[in-house]
Amino acid sequence: MCWRLSICCAVLSWWLAGCATPTARRTESEAGATPVAMVQRSQPLLGTFVTITVAERDEERTQEAISAAFEEIRRIDLLLSIHKTNSETARLNASAATKPVEVSPELNFVLSKSLDIARRTDGAFDATIGPLAQLWGFIWKEYRLPSEVELERVLPLVGYRKVVIETNGVTARVSFARAGMFLDFGGIGKGYAVDRAIEILRERGVTKAMVKAGGDLRVIGTPPGKNGWEVQIEDPAKRGKRTTIVLREGALSTSGNYENFFEVDGRRYSHIIDPRSGMPVEGVVSCTVTAQTCLESDAYATGFFVMGAERALTEFGDEFGIRIVDANLRVRESAKFPK
Ligand code: ADP
Ligand code: MG
Repeated sequence: MCWRLSICCAVLSWWLAGCATPTARRTESEAGATPVAMVQRSQPLLGTFVTITVAERDEERTQEAISAAFEEIRRIDLLLSIHKTNSETARLNASAATKPVEVSPELNFVLSKSLDIARRTDGAFDATIGPLAQLWGFIWKEYRLPSEVELERVLPLVGYRKVVIETNGVTARVSFARAGMFLDFGGIGKGYAVDRAIEILRERGVTKAMVKAGGDLRVIGTPPGKNGWEVQIEDPAKRGKRTTIVLREGALSTSGNYENFFEVDGRRYSHIIDPRSGMPVEGVVSCTVTAQTCLESDAYATGFFVMGAERALTEFGDEFGIRIVDANLRVRESAKFPK
């Protein structure tokens, strides 16, 4: 895209509740010490806005670290995007039904994680969703209602068990069991990109940061004078208002039915699809998950959205923070969900 917005605002940030003015924040540090600069920059990437916020003393190094993190996100986009014909995933998708394709260790990593999560969620999260997402027009936002016949034709092209990874410990080769299958990392890719950006910041000495890509984010350290990062989550139950929670070290993702959807005869069809029925999920309006990594929070938020509140809370409530808002706007949370 030729329009590139790069907002750079040094020192302080509006979302830190309780904080007064930039001057007030600067004087917060001990006498003589360099004050902490709160640097925040945003760019349109991964089909959304990515915002990186860092709280460190050395502002020049912080700016360099943020630039490197954005560069890393661009690199991950070129690894996983199916909107770019030259991404490694697009190239894999183009040939894996014909012959095994050797993949990079990194693509193997994301694919293997996707298949693990598919197994653990009993196929609720399934990155082979591509042909169904395509059929409903969600990939390019050319929405349409498929016929029964089309659904029956496409359903057999989806299923994580139909992806084969052959590995000899050094290289990995991937093939698809059926022609027409393709991978869509739309439910996990942003999370992985956020994890990589955090890693790049860490390598450059950053200890306090937040990386947010649309509804997926991860934090490290705590902002000065705070006991965590204040995060606002979309709250359909509050009709436009947002719920604020405090997050310490870890990731949070929200999957909702209110961003990529269309309506026919008053019925909403949104972009999260049940891989077994081939139908967009109804009954859940938003699902927020906290986990250690953003790859996990992203993928499980999509998976739990498909599973529904009952099963997700029973089977995964001890492991993850989960908050699900159902179609009646009833909110249910697991004990681990941060307050
Ligand atoms: P967002 O992309 O808005 O952050 P999600 O993380 O929930 O939302 O991802 C939704 C995307 O994941 C869809 O646009 C589609 O590309 C893909 N997807 C849809 N249904 C599934 C599913 N059951 N399992 C895995 N990926 C899915
Ligand atoms: Mg997701």
